[in-house]
Amino acid sequence: MSRTSGRGKLIVISGPSGSGKNTLIRELLRRSKWPLVLSVSATTRPPRPGEKDGVDYFFMTDEQFRRLADQGGFLEYARYVGHWYGTPREWVERQLEDGKWVLLEIDVQGALQIKQKHPDAVLIFVRTSSLQEYERRLRQRGTESEQDIKRRLEQAKRELEYLPYYDYVVTNDELEQAVNQIEGILDQLGGGQACTQS
Ligand code: ADP
Ligand code: 5GP
Repeated sequence: MSRTSGRGKLIVISGPSGSGKNTLIRELLRRSKWPLVLSVSATTRPPRPGEKDGVDYFFMTDEQFRRLADQGGFLEYARYVGHWYGTPREWVERQLEDGKWVLLEIDVQGALQIKQKHPDAVLIFVRTSSLQEYERRLRQRGTESEQDIKRRLEQAKRELEYLPYYDYVVTNDELEQAVNQIEGILDQLGGGQACTQS
């Protein structure tokens, strides 16, 4: 496959845990200047307090996940800090056919799989300017165990090595500035207009 199918666009957002991907995406969706939709991933990680099945993730057992992967149900999938995560393929393809701009909040391994299948996907990497800030934010978020925070911080260093593969790097030190920067990127993609054939 060499081109994004349909008329929509694929926009990948990656970055270390705690970089603020989810916060930025919620704000972009709230501003709603573009035909943006967020893909809901499947995962084998347990839900955090307040997370809802089908809204934040499709929470699955390892066996359910493996079965779906074997059936070709994922556009990409990867293992991250002890759990599986994957992008449901059919839903994304339907949205693209429908002209939507589909946001994928996925890790660096998944992002590379997407770029290979869809070279016109736009890859955005979100980071902060210091490693200590990821730790501060993860502790403040308070959703992971101490061991998980450590594993995610180790993973952050590895993820930063993937920066050169990304089309854009956004430093999320100040939230408003980072949202505006991504807005600028999205405006460049389509000038806020209905999507053209990609
Ligand atoms: P990710 O999805 O990348 O793991 P989150 O969006 O969950 O990150 O953000 C992690 C924590 O950092 C949250 O508590 C969030 O409120 C906070 N946060 C996000 N962006 C900023 C920012 N620019 N400045 C300070 N705190 C932030
Ligand atoms: P979290 O457990 O914090 O929700 O997510 C952990 C990591 O998994 C984040 O880097 C997030 O972007 C990534 N992730 C979430 N969904 C997917 C997915 O469908 N595919 C891949 N490859 N990574 C995902």
